[in-house]
Parts: sequence; C-alpha cells; structure tokens
Amino acid sequence: MNDQYTICTLGSHSALQILKGAHDEGFKTLVIALNKQISFYKRYSFIDEIIGVNSFSEFPEIEEKLKNKKIIVIPHGSFVAYLGMEGNKKMTLPYFGNKKVLDFEFDRIKQGEWLKESGINTPKEFKNIEDVEFPVIIKSFGAAGGKGYYLVNDKQDLTNKIKLFKNQKYVIQQYVVGVSLYIHYFYSPLTKTLEILSMDRRYETNVDALGRLPFRVDPSYVVVGNSPLVLRESMLPEAYAMGEKVVKKSQELISHQGLFGPFCLETIITPDQKFYVIEISARIVAGTNLFIEGSPYSDLLFDEPMSTGRRIAREIKNAIKDNKLDLILD
Ligand code: ATP
Repeated sequence: MNDQYTICTLGSHSALQILKGAHDEGFKTLVIALNKQISFYKRYSFIDEIIGVNSFSEFPEIEEKLKNKKIIVIPHGSFVAYLGMEGNKKMTLPYFGNKKVLDFEFDRIKQGEWLKESGINTPKEFKNIEDVEFPVIIKSFGAAGGKGYYLVNDKQDLTNKIKLFKNQKYVIQQYVVGVSLYIHYFYSPLTKTLEILSMDRRYETNVDALGRLPFRVDPSYVVVGNSPLVLRESMLPEAYAMGEKVVKKSQELISHQGLFGPFCLETIITPDQKFYVIEISARIVAGTNLFIEGSPYSDLLFDEPMSTGRRIAREIKNAIKDNKLDLILD
C-alpha cells in the first residue's frame, strides 16, 4: 500500500539517509535538489525522482505542482535554514511531525522553559553580571553551529565580551565542563514508546584540539563532523528517562500532541556522571548519518538495520496500515 506514497525531502543534511530508509520500507522517493547537485543525487539508485531548483526558495512553486500526488515531506535540519520558520509552517504538503514544535525549538526562551520544566538538568543561566559563577559561555540568540559564542572565566573578560554584542540579544550560561554526547531518540505516537536509536559526539574546531596545545587560545565550536559513541550501560536508563520527560512535558506545553518522531538531546556529561542538556533538536540530526546501517542501540530494538531515516518511514508505513496517518502528519 505504501508504494502509492512518495517520500520527499530537500537535497541536503540527511536526505540520503531519509530516502534510503524510505526506499527500504517500500516507498517511492523524491528529492528536491539544487540543479548543480542533480548529478550527485543521480548516483543513488534508491532515489526514484529528482526535481531540480536554482534555489530552495522555489519550494512553494514546486509544492503547487506536487499537490495532487501522494507526497509526504520529511523535514530535516536544513529545512529552517533554507525555507525559514514561516516557510516551514506554510508548507501545504503533508509534513511528518508537529509544526507547533517549531515555535518552541527556535525560540531560545521557550526552549529553555520547556527543558527546565521537564525536570531535566540544564546549565544555569545568569541574569545579573553580579551573580555569575565562572566559567560561563555567552551565547548570542540565533547563533548557528556554535558561532558567536564566547567562553569567559573572569569578570573583566565578561564585561569586555558583552560589549561586543551591542544591541544583539544574548544569554550568559554556566559553562559545563565535561564531554558532549548527542542522543538520537524516536518517539512513536502510534505505540507511545520512546526509542534510543543511536548516539554521537560532535567534533568541533578548535575546542577539540585544545588538549594538544601547551598555551591558551580561545575556543570556538564550529562543527566539522560527528563520531559514534556508546554510553556506559549504567547511564542508559537516565538517557531514556530524560527523553521521556521531555516528550511528556511537550505534550502539556505544545498543542497537537507535542513532540514526536526523531529528536536529539545535546548533552554534556560531567565527571560526577550528571547529564546537562544544552539543547534540543526536534527533528532528525546530522549525527544520525553515521548509522545508515543501524547502531548498537537500534540493533537491540530491531532485528534489521534501522537508521533514523528508515524508522521515520517505518512509522509512516505503520500509520498507513492502521489508518492513522492523520496522527503523524501536519
Ligand atoms: P546547533 O544549532 O548547530 O546545534 P548552536 O549554535 O545552537 O548549534 P549549541 O549546540 O548550543 O550551538 O552549542 C555549540 C557547542 O558549544 C556545543 O556543541 C558545546 O560544545 C558548546 N556548548 C554550548 N553550551 C555549552 C555549555 N553550557 N557548556 C559547555 N559547552 C557548551
């Protein structure tokens, strides 16, 4: 039945994983790609159709042409960057996920409240310079990929760095000293269960190189890649509990059944084995690309290779079978 549906996404980020997963689950696949990248996407036999555009801003016109086909759009981490928040919300094609979550994900204050009210550990935030306990990280609003962040360890430096922000908004946050771990979850609204499908750590320049230097330089947090990681098994129950708390809170805060589908908690683990959640991504994250053939965690749950991309397609397939597509599409 699902071969009547086409799974579609934008050619970037985790499109290959999403479309391979959709193909493996028996869907037709479509990628909307920049014209200059058509030849790249043609390399992959699991992509049935490619629509070329000069810019992703042409999406609304493409959408109009596709409206009579049975298309399901899977958003990924580049959707907001390419289409903007409003572009995402205005999308008329069936969209996997809850668009209401976008408001909470992309507003730093709302996201902070969501995480804090979930009852998970988050870094402290300081309103007054007088109260600051060092070290802290100053984050500009709307920063991407850790650009525009400053790590400071004394009051003089803090005052100097704050001046750089001029009229721009920022937050002063406790700098959590520990190792980072990005946990990739999937919450199924059909079975009401949470799965951990995989984990990664980010490789960031230059912060991940600082241990090699005998002198001090200012860290930056520009992501260049991701590597796989497994967590001590004794900490895994806590990782599940955090995901469950965040989902539960979202169901109270966000209309249309809150958060579902893939999401990622970006955590830092301190030497006393405490998780601090620094951010949530309410969609498929690029770190899942490591696990197109599944991960140690998905292997524990499924007897076949299960990437996050394939898990999304599986959810859609199950929803079609149970006549519950309405539950998972916006
Ligand atoms: P993206 O949207 O791509 O996730 P971003 O610009 O929102 O990036 P964050 O993920 O919030 O950035 O942070 C970037 C990096 O900065 C993190 O991976 C982490 O290394 C570091 N970082 C952020 N907040 C903290 C904190 N409170 N303590 C320690 N390190 C932090």
